Amino acid sequence: MSEQILHKNPATGLPVGTVAAFLNLSSALVALYTDGTDQYGDPKAAWFCLGCGTRSHIARQLATSRIEANNHSAECRAIPWPQASLV
Ligand SMILES: [Zn+2]
Repeated sequence: MSEQILHKNPATGLPVGTVAAFLNLSSALVALYTDGTDQYGDPKAAWFCLGCGTRSHIARQLATSRIEANNHSAECRAIPWPQASLV
């Protein structure tokens, strides 16, 4: 099994295709981002925590991934990880 590649927007540090972000208990963001479509053409989504680095294993239906991202943000206490300066 290969590792899923996560492309980030260099200006924001969020995954490309981010449609929502949730705050965890220590104010780190959990980003919900679109990741392709299913066999019916409906968008699939995945999530990534910018605090602890945990991410969803596979892209799921948008509503399902939104619930998972929100649940993770409600239990994760990782602090926001410092970003390398782009300047
Ligand atoms: Zn987390």
